[in-house]
Amino acid sequence: MNYDSDNIFAKILRGEIPCEKVFEDADTFVFMDIMPRADGHCLVIPKTPCRNMLDASDAQLAACLRTVRKMGHAVMAAFGAEGVTVQQFNEAPGGQEVFHLHYHVLPRHEGVKLRPPGQMADFDVLKTQADKLRAALAELG
Ligand code: AMP
Repeated sequence: MNYDSDNIFAKILRGEIPCEKVFEDADTFVFMDIMPRADGHCLVIPKTPCRNMLDASDAQLAACLRTVRKMGHAVMAAFGAEGVTVQQFNEAPGGQEVFHLHYHVLPRHEGVKLRPPGQMADFDVLKTQADKLRAALAELG
């Protein structure tokens, strides 16, 4: 499968465009989604190239899912969430828009629907939410 090394998440990983970073380890990187569908909506990506789940290695998938679980606990703690939705899309007909593997981690509350897609966040609000997530991660250890 083709990997375009100029996709926007590859540029974020290279530091060529800014993002609100939340967490990184040796294999994964987490940052706030700029069009969040819930407060605390963040994205988990592998640091190495792959287009989506279909061409990802076992190691990339395992590393991402470990971090997805970590962020699931963090969003629960930081936003008083009662549940977590994880979304991951493959190829355009599958809903994928950015072609570097990513997992959406969305804190959920009973009876609260996700916001519609495509609404740009205020950057100060995103930073405040990222601060909450960073504090929750530090607390969780
Ligand atoms: P999808 O490929 O359908 O999972 O959608 C890509 C996601 O990336 C959307 O939720 C966008 O809001 C998000 N997104 C696109 N560009 C950026 C960016 N520069 N920083 C953070 N999130 C982004």
